[in-house]
Amino acid sequence: MENKIICAIVFLIGLMLLLFQQAKAQPTIFKQPLSPRIANYDIDVRLDTEKKMIYGREKLTWFNKTGDVITELQFHLYWNAFRNNKSTFMIESNNSSDIDEEDWGFIEVDKINLLNGDDLTSKMEFIHPDDDNADDKTVFRLLLSSPILPDQSIKLNIDFTAKIPQSPIANRAIAEHEYFFISQWFPKIGIYIDGKWNCHQYHHHSEFFADYGVYNVNITIPEKNIVGATGIEVEAKNNGDGTAIHSYHAEDVHDFAWTTSPEFIEVKGKSQDVNIRILLQPDHKGQAQRHLEAAKVAVEYFQNWYGDYPFPNLTVVDPRRNAMASGGMEYPTLITAGTFYGIPEGLRMVEMIIIHEFGHNFWYHLVASNEFEEAWLDEGINSYCENLILADHYGPIGNLIDIMGIEISDWQFSRLQYLIFPDLDPIVQKSWEYYSGNSYAVNAYQKPALMLITLQNYLGKETMQRIMRAYFERWKFKHPKTQDVIDVANEVAGQDLNWFFDQALFGTAVLDYSVEKIFTLEVKKNDGYDFMFSVQEEDSSATDTTKVDVTNEKMSKNLETDSVSLKSDADSAKTSQNMYYSGVDIRRLGDFKFPVEIEMTFENGERIREQWDGLDLWKKLRYTKATKLVSATVDPDHKIPIDINFTNNSRTVKSQSKGINKLAIRFLFWMQLLLDQPEFLNAFTGMGFNL
Ligand SMILES: [Zn+2]
Repeated sequence: MENKIICAIVFLIGLMLLLFQQAKAQPTIFKQPLSPRIANYDIDVRLDTEKKMIYGREKLTWFNKTGDVITELQFHLYWNAFRNNKSTFMIESNNSSDIDEEDWGFIEVDKINLLNGDDLTSKMEFIHPDDDNADDKTVFRLLLSSPILPDQSIKLNIDFTAKIPQSPIANRAIAEHEYFFISQWFPKIGIYIDGKWNCHQYHHHSEFFADYGVYNVNITIPEKNIVGATGIEVEAKNNGDGTAIHSYHAEDVHDFAWTTSPEFIEVKGKSQDVNIRILLQPDHKGQAQRHLEAAKVAVEYFQNWYGDYPFPNLTVVDPRRNAMASGGMEYPTLITAGTFYGIPEGLRMVEMIIIHEFGHNFWYHLVASNEFEEAWLDEGINSYCENLILADHYGPIGNLIDIMGIEISDWQFSRLQYLIFPDLDPIVQKSWEYYSGNSYAVNAYQKPALMLITLQNYLGKETMQRIMRAYFERWKFKHPKTQDVIDVANEVAGQDLNWFFDQALFGTAVLDYSVEKIFTLEVKKNDGYDFMFSVQEEDSSATDTTKVDVTNEKMSKNLETDSVSLKSDADSAKTSQNMYYSGVDIRRLGDFKFPVEIEMTFENGERIREQWDGLDLWKKLRYTKATKLVSATVDPDHKIPIDINFTNNSRTVKSQSKGINKLAIRFLFWMQLLLDQPEFLNAFTGMGFNL
């Protein structure tokens, strides 16, 4: 008995010691893993701020949870995109600038060995799975001397040296004076999925795809510097030689980025259960509150609407001026914003970017889709959320721009961009296979955002939010595909929405319904058989009133052959009031078929709404009433932002085209003025920002 107690005590002490050691070796934030921790990294990295170089040693522990026997591994070396002008990235970017030798960047693997010492460096081989570009060195494979069996793991040590690319080629990672943003910076394993490696080259218009894991990263930097990074800082130690080591720990993340500068101003706040830390540039000190407020708004909306953000903190980095290549970016628990000195309050660029980038922590990080192959799953869904949040928080009108009497909402801005290339490519396509960078942007961001707003208006906000929550809940810490979104939507909405998704995601058809014709005719009873019509048609050549004689017989015949819907006002017909025969012809000008509402307004204030499934090429609506038809509008509640032409959505019996043109000219004038501002253009077209 006593022996048993002693044994138990010894066992418990042993267990406690073990747990203590483990806890020390690997601090934990969460009680249990939230993700399949497949790719785990312990990295020591030193930054040489003078040479703009980083020196790293990475210990990778990779678990084979694929069910297959793995005989090779594949890795990304993203910074080799900036090695020279022969990389796939540089070729795709059409960058014609003369690049100074010192501006190029690179990443070199100095040595790879198994933890037991076996040197595998000679087993590295550059591959280019996406094109035949033998000069591209952004992906390599490593042939293994012995395979990794299912449920086994491999531990590798990788020594690497890398140089930070400089402007004008810098993209995401950048060194500008003493500001450094370090992303896509370490040898990173691809994903083994669907029976093969998915490890794409670095493309000019593409983002990323990676497995979850635990990261322990020790960053050595000048002691005067402030650091921001993915995860939480667990220790900061001064080395006594002018440098300091900042140790970060992150769990259930699929990437790790960091930044450092001696100039950062730290601003702290809290939103719900999330600690917010803003790292601001000194010249943007006056915008501290704006940044903090936007981050709070983002956290609150996403948690209230879509689900739990299970991390304790969020860091928002404000890039230095001339370093906008690192602006508008998302990394797990760390995002970058972007602003400029003196930005007006009514230009909500800061707010839009912070809300957008935080949103990525849901649709890129917590739900980790393949951004190389289906960018819309992240950028498109996220742009849709950003649109909704801006509209809900800042109001439906002018929520993005509200200055000098100009009011532009986020959805309107998305639509302006969508209209540049509405039908060049389908949304679902590999990022580098779009017609152009603009077409990629439209199909990754704006078109899916507008499609989802359209779907929300069709299904109702409540149903759409249930779909989004279900999608998030079901697919967090997994790698969903387009079909998974469709399946969740069909299931939650309780209806087959394939007709919509087929057109919206896989086709290039555009949506355009127009009021083709509108008229109202005064009906005067003549001699019992003949009618005298007074015609007033809204047509450039038909604004005059003309009179037409038509026989009763002729009229009935017309009505039959036209298959129109004729509604008559029976009560008024019995009286001696003048009667009016009115009509509206609606046309479907695009191949995208979608149900539409049409609203008719009559002179006595009466409004009639008609539903049309929108399938045929046209529809005629006819009415006989004791009042004149005044106007007709397709989509009167503006529920269909993907309609490519709003100017033909409504017609009045008396032309108002002059007024509309004047408004249109004023709008275009202001848009032109805004787009001429380089900072504005940078901010909103993605030329400077990554978003
Ligand atoms: Zn984005």
